[in-house]
Amino acid sequence: MQTRICRLTSRRDLRVESIDLELPSDNEVLIRMGAGGICGSDLHYYNDGGFGPIQVKEPIILGHEVSGIVQLLGPGVKNLKIGDKVAINPSHPCGECKYCQKEIFQHCLRMRFFGSALRFPHEQGAFRDNMVVRAEQCFPIHKNTSLAQAACAEPLAVCLHAQGRAPDLKGKRVLITGSGPIGVLCVALAAEAGASEIIATDLEDLPLKVAKNMGASQTINISDCPEMMDIFLVDNGYFDVAFECSAAQVALQSCIETVRPQGTIIQIGVTGNLSIPINKLVGKEIFLLGAHRFHTEFKTAVELIDLGKIDVTPIISCTYSMDQAPEAFELAGDRSQVVKVQLSFESKY
Ligand code: ZN
Repeated sequence: MQTRICRLTSRRDLRVESIDLELPSDNEVLIRMGAGGICGSDLHYYNDGGFGPIQVKEPIILGHEVSGIVQLLGPGVKNLKIGDKVAINPSHPCGECKYCQKEIFQHCLRMRFFGSALRFPHEQGAFRDNMVVRAEQCFPIHKNTSLAQAACAEPLAVCLHAQGRAPDLKGKRVLITGSGPIGVLCVALAAEAGASEIIATDLEDLPLKVAKNMGASQTINISDCPEMMDIFLVDNGYFDVAFECSAAQVALQSCIETVRPQGTIIQIGVTGNLSIPINKLVGKEIFLLGAHRFHTEFKTAVELIDLGKIDVTPIISCTYSMDQAPEAFELAGDRSQVVKVQLSFESKY
């Protein structure tokens, strides 16, 4: 038996191919995949062959924001049954290294993360019709939750982890720079957490419309009206907390200028080097913190989606079948037209 996969062979060369289908071993299950979101890192691999020191050195199956249906159980699986709809946590820390011992699993020294070129050989990803997955990486969802929604658990977990790095947002003024999928999910979480004001920025109108739908009190298109940020320079800064999701120099600069003294900036967007006005960072005693991946937050993300506390559907702009993966990747890079593009696989419900 064979199964279809979506594999990047070299820069901008994405192919739908077939490989032999494996069967689940102990504590593993065979998943029939349903939906898979195309993430910024998938796009970096596709468009640029990687980012910074992480470069694609061999063909790699992309994809880590996925969901599906359990179709076969390996020996010893207790937490799942055939037919369960599941969100799949792409993260597999070793459980033994010094950081796993300290339960900061996202810093695992031997992390295996779906579709990642960080290590060689690369960890193969989940854009495929069928995949063997460790049972403990599968989180059952409610039957009324769609597989498309479940595939948003991974980016939502990233945002939950970032929020966990910030002070309690209740009653706080929050700035979110960059309204891509991560930015707008941060908007939704800030609204759920009871922030008093949520200002979202971007260079495009479409993501700002989505940010508004997900709970932003005001949106600002920085390319059209950069002067609209000036009001937030008042009293040496207006915002209590900023989530910087764009990795753009101008956005980080703006966060540092508009966050109040002793306020917090959570940097989620990733890039190479940005310069920082150290005089302002020091003078205002700003907390500038990174946020990387997630661990226990994945389960919480699934619960928030299942309970309808966070409606992730506005982020899904369109869905393409795996056959159309190259077109889907081309479109996913156009921020004026889409926020999140998903692929669909064998399980279409
Ligand atoms: Zn580890």
